[in-house]
Amino acid sequence: MEQATAIPHVLIFPLPVQGHVTSMLKLAELLSLAGGGGIRVTFLNSDYNHTRLIQFSDAESRFRNYPAFQFKTIDDGLPMDQLTKGQKVSELVGAMGSKTRPVFKDSLVQMDPPVTCVIGDGALGFISEVSLELGIPNIRFRTISTCFFWINFWLPEIIQAGELPIQGEEDMDRMITKVPGTESFLRCRDLPAYCRGRSDEPTLLRIVRATRESSSPPYPLILNTFDELDGPILALVHHRLPKTYAIGPLHEHLRSRLHTTSYSSPSSSLWKEEASCLTWLDSQPLGSVLYVNFGSITMMRRDQAVEFWEGLINSKNRFLWVIRPGSVCFDEEMGCDNMPEELVEGVEKGNLKVLVGWAPQEEVLGHDAVGGFLTHSGWNSTLESIVAGVPMICWPFFADQQVNSRVVSEVLKLGLDMKDVCDRRVVERMVNELMVEKKEEFGRKAAEMARMAKESVKEGGSSYRDLELLIEDIKSQAQEVNGSKSNNSIS
Ligand code: UDP
Repeated sequence: MEQATAIPHVLIFPLPVQGHVTSMLKLAELLSLAGGGGIRVTFLNSDYNHTRLIQFSDAESRFRNYPAFQFKTIDDGLPMDQLTKGQKVSELVGAMGSKTRPVFKDSLVQMDPPVTCVIGDGALGFISEVSLELGIPNIRFRTISTCFFWINFWLPEIIQAGELPIQGEEDMDRMITKVPGTESFLRCRDLPAYCRGRSDEPTLLRIVRATRESSSPPYPLILNTFDELDGPILALVHHRLPKTYAIGPLHEHLRSRLHTTSYSSPSSSLWKEEASCLTWLDSQPLGSVLYVNFGSITMMRRDQAVEFWEGLINSKNRFLWVIRPGSVCFDEEMGCDNMPEELVEGVEKGNLKVLVGWAPQEEVLGHDAVGGFLTHSGWNSTLESIVAGVPMICWPFFADQQVNSRVVSEVLKLGLDMKDVCDRRVVERMVNELMVEKKEEFGRKAAEMARMAKESVKEGGSSYRDLELLIEDIKSQAQEVNGSKSNNSIS
């Protein structure tokens, strides 16, 4: 076994779904870059996702530039042939908790040189538990929005005050008052599905216990946000968890530290990116196109797809709709794709393009022709839209998306919230509001927030500062770990 030195060895372990892999791989590259070889980084990917990552992105060759970086893989516990592998997040989390956990523990014990810090996805509670069992310092990375993290933190108080669970057919616009900093905007309908209706109190409490956000002693936390975006709530989080590092937007942070002139940060795509939509965008007028994309997990019913289609057509705006294969017209019972005739692959007319596939999203959002984004409000997509200065129409699907859409519309005033509605008239009205009637108003706001996002990751910016702090702390943790190991003569 290699002699223990003070060189830190960080192990980064994301939940194996696109949004989590993307943001945590950006962090891995930032640490490899900023560490200048002075930080070893191991990125633990699921076998299934790793095959896709090296097939559809340049991650493998790119990371060869960092000699102190390595990929390792692990089984995610789901059968290999499962069609929707990774798209039913609760099944994935369950399988990993039971099957991946012991394998992870073994590989952590065997890692050489020993790991001095685990940066684990906060969505996988077992990562911090195993690290603690082995006495390895652990930092939780939450890829969700700060506001959603904070709401989960306060769930026990919301339940205790009787504001949850929601009782039967209630007024979903009822305000939730027990989460500090959100009293002016948080309604029942802005909570995730497990708080909205169907969940009874025991189910809710089980979720609260599983996340154990507020009852754990303070722990170090990484958030993909920046001071100017989430300032007031971030200050409250800091108060409870003083070692909180807000180092986002991570994709812009990486772009900035790489000094790249490209519109996008390096790819970590798990699908084949279709660049043809960029060529189509090249021929469209400035700011004229609404980009439509619902991310890597959202499933939509056939009738919902038709409502969107009709609303978009009736709005008479230009649009580019990217449809992930298998995501639209999914029939829960029959499990089949039954695409409406209108939405067949490659529909391309003067003012619209429908692409069944996967887009290079950062590049699309950075394209001059794009003037709006109809999104599911995933946190990465939201940050990518913010950095590109593109206003949003939000149609949230699950997890933090219900609250993200509320924050985008009501707090940041960067767009419109269409949650709980899927009606062609509403689609038409909102598209016109965003792209025509309030185009300038939203455009000004979005440009200002984009400017602040870019400033935050430059030298002197808040996210830049927090990343430097994180690196210092990782280095001093390594000194402590190695110090205590040599005292105990382990290495
Ligand atoms: N994405 C992409 N091309 C697509 C759709 C999505 O590159 O056609 C990327 C997008 O840029 C983002 C990620 O996939 O980085 C989706 O993460 P997000 O948190 O927005 O949503 P999720 O997919 O987790 O619901």
